Amino acid sequence: MEEGVRWLGKENATQRLSREQQRRVEEWLWERAERCASCGNANIRCEDVTSEHLGGGLSLHLRCSNSDAEAHALGFGLTWSRSITQEEAQQIGL
Ligand SMILES: [Zn+2]
Repeated sequence: MEEGVRWLGKENATQRLSREQQRRVEEWLWERAERCASCGNANIRCEDVTSEHLGGGLSLHLRCSNSDAEAHALGFGLTWSRSITQEEAQQIGL
């Protein structure tokens, strides 16, 4: 059991995004009118690392660009992850 857990560890389940892929994710979020849950900012940045789901799909690691907002005092809610399906990942070109 522990062997299997190690094999499925964090390192194997992450993937790096190119700057171009990050830009496409940001545009996709913009088109869907997604907002930062803490401050309502629409200008969301995509980090260059994603986590793969075992059953397909990805977790995007997102960051609010509005780090000066009071809602983010002490960094609260500045980063979060958002799950997308395999189909959505293909749409975006990830
Ligand atoms: Zn925010």
